[in-house]
Amino acid sequence: MTNDAEARFRRLVARASLLDVLLGECLEVGQPSEIAWDDFVAVATEHLSRWARLETRAALSLLLDPTTAPASELLLRGQLEALAHLSWISEGSGAAGQRQRALCYELGRLKRYRDGWLKMSPEAVSHLPNNTAEQLEHDIASLQQLHLEAGCRCSGRNDGAVEAQLRSLAKILKQPAIYELWATSSFVAHQFGYDRIAKPAGKGLTSASEATLGDRVKLLSWVLLVYGYMGQAALQLTNPNQQVRFASGVRRYLGSPSFKRATREIGPDSVYS
Ligand SMILES: [Zn+2]
Repeated sequence: MTNDAEARFRRLVARASLLDVLLGECLEVGQPSEIAWDDFVAVATEHLSRWARLETRAALSLLLDPTTAPASELLLRGQLEALAHLSWISEGSGAAGQRQRALCYELGRLKRYRDGWLKMSPEAVSHLPNNTAEQLEHDIASLQQLHLEAGCRCSGRNDGAVEAQLRSLAKILKQPAIYELWATSSFVAHQFGYDRIAKPAGKGLTSASEATLGDRVKLLSWVLLVYGYMGQAALQLTNPNQQVRFASGVRRYLGSPSFKRATREIGPDSVYS
């Protein structure tokens, strides 16, 4: 019975990876083969969706092994942050508003990247080309100018803006999980969520417990819920006519008899529920 359930779960994960293929196809339909350097909405969407898709594939792989599955929760955080940025850009007023917000995001991204490098010792960045710092300063200055011309005086999007956007999105979508999963995955990222994987090992010590099949089904449903919204936000910005196709693919998967059966039969013992 356990082996049967494991085999069924593995089939679910294999089918979930097809949703990523579907999103790739939807993003590409009718798009130019190369992104223009000044198409900042397309550039930001490419940057954000590329990371989020990679994190989703990584999460699916972690879910295949009960000893690594709990770490997939951490990857939700990146997916949610991509969703926060993409949805914020898509809420910009018309094409000009979206372009301006994409510039805010790209400017903030480059500044954070530059600030990170500046904190490092010369040895830590010695593998980079010598002109990396100059190149970053040059790119930031160019973006700052374009960002100003687009009518915005902010100092660039920062990571503190993510929380407010996810709170607002959770209300709009009537999906409290969109915010709550960001909070719980942050516990994991900051190493505050040890209780979730701890089991007593005697003498006051704990060891890590393996994720149950129920945990893995739950984590899979979370990863795909966030992935579905992230994909829709990316398509909203670059290929809105493909949104329905992608959303119905995700809905078909999450509402499929095999997914529902897995949730019903192997979900209830989840420690996360
Ligand atoms: Zn701005």
